[in-house]
Amino acid sequence: MNSAVKLLDKSAEKFGDKIAITDEFGEISFNQLKDKSLRVGTGILNYSSRTGEISPVIVYLDKSINCIISFMGTLYSGNPYVPVAADIPMQRLEKIISNLNPEFIITDSKKIEKLCDIDLNVTTPLLFDDLVQCDADEEKVYNKLNKVIDTDPIYIMYTSGSTGTPKGVTVSHKGVIDYVQWTSTTFGINETDILANQAPFYFDNSIFDIYGMLITGAKMMIIPEVLFNFQSKLPEFLKDNNVTTIFWVPTVIINVANTGELEKYSLPSLKRVLFCGEVMPNTQLNIWRRALPDVQYANLYGPTEITDVCSYYIVDREFEDHDSLPIGKACENMRILILNDDNKQAGVGEKGELCVVGSGVALGYWNNPEQTNKAFMQNPINKKYNEWLYRTGDIAYIDDRGFIMYCGRKDHQIKIKGNRVELGEIETAAMCIEDVQNVCAIFDEANERIVLFIESESESEFKLRLVNKELLKYIPKYMLPSQLEVMKNLPHTANDKIDRVTLKKMLTQ
Ligand code: AMP
Repeated sequence: MNSAVKLLDKSAEKFGDKIAITDEFGEISFNQLKDKSLRVGTGILNYSSRTGEISPVIVYLDKSINCIISFMGTLYSGNPYVPVAADIPMQRLEKIISNLNPEFIITDSKKIEKLCDIDLNVTTPLLFDDLVQCDADEEKVYNKLNKVIDTDPIYIMYTSGSTGTPKGVTVSHKGVIDYVQWTSTTFGINETDILANQAPFYFDNSIFDIYGMLITGAKMMIIPEVLFNFQSKLPEFLKDNNVTTIFWVPTVIINVANTGELEKYSLPSLKRVLFCGEVMPNTQLNIWRRALPDVQYANLYGPTEITDVCSYYIVDREFEDHDSLPIGKACENMRILILNDDNKQAGVGEKGELCVVGSGVALGYWNNPEQTNKAFMQNPINKKYNEWLYRTGDIAYIDDRGFIMYCGRKDHQIKIKGNRVELGEIETAAMCIEDVQNVCAIFDEANERIVLFIESESESEFKLRLVNKELLKYIPKYMLPSQLEVMKNLPHTANDKIDRVTLKKMLTQ
């Protein structure tokens, strides 16, 4: 299969009028999804003057079925799609546009006004409502589609970059096709399943839901976003909709456990609770396991650079609250190496950097050879042929059962409520604020919050609310600090770096 959109062709043929996706506004069958996506794909081809080159299309819409039609439509046009958050700060979108140089951005009549505030360069906004009205031209679409090869990019997802510029992780069709073949067989998902989607579409956990639905004929329910403000309502949603499978970020699973609501529902339809994206604490996992003992639980691990997941652990026993949950073993088509400082394979129990090879490894960062060469490289263990390896920056070791154990990060990347954040991106944004001479962002793990230290000699008073208002021009809400400390001089180490250790200690005093 050269393009993952052919999974939609197959599912439309096999499942026809069966419902493929629901959101809070309605539902769409496999046939309708194909029909509308073909229209969008034809529209993109009709408007495009970039024939013969791969040209990414940004999708800037509220989370809904229309996003998935736009993704599939873009794939029918032979191009990769780029999902961005509906509330993305405009300066961040401008940086993405400058890095990507896309021909089109698909949007709606409300959001198009916001685009007037930024430099779109050569990018033309296309209204979703117009695209979906185009007449489908299958000949045109399949002529273009048949030229795609499975190592071409399927999507580009932007993650936080330490220098302040988001990095466009570029993933291949093959990565996605192999991954969803693996998930559907490993977890036995089929057309009777109902997948309740939590992950935003700009976060790669959503690949499990979207392509899981396409490859198996399962129904994907996009959970109304407002429900995440009332997480005690989530078990009721699962019950009322007979959901069989959830693949959520641990933060949401933890919050649901903490609401005490789980015990009130038996959830007989629920078969699988899968989680990925950050450490899952056993305390909350045990609450789920006690409330719903017949469900299968699995800890999946993987960064955006790996098509969602590269290792998994099916929970097979009770863990004490203070134990660490393994991230397990490599998935099919993937190999995990733990490399020590000499780039040799670490022995059992020895910590090293978790590195990955295999079909899920991304192609690199879009139009960013410098960052690509830092993180992706030839597998140093293999001198015989070219093998693309990704260095995750995660520290891990293999335990005596052969399971990989996650031990944290090498760098200043953190996870806050499931979102990946480079503290450097916050610092770069804060440096744009008037009268700020220097900054340092620190993650206070104990209280799960970001503290921003500002160096300034100015008499002007910095207020958290006003600083955050400025920061919101550049960075998403989830990256905002929840505490501000202003100092005349930030402490420095002997080699003149900002002394993060001292700053961190100040938080506990
Ligand atoms: P993202 O690119 O947003 O998926 O974030 C990837 C990072 O999240 C990884 O490099 C890990 O640091 C962390 N992560 C992902 N899955 C897990 C997991 N199951 N357990 C612990 N950390 C995880």
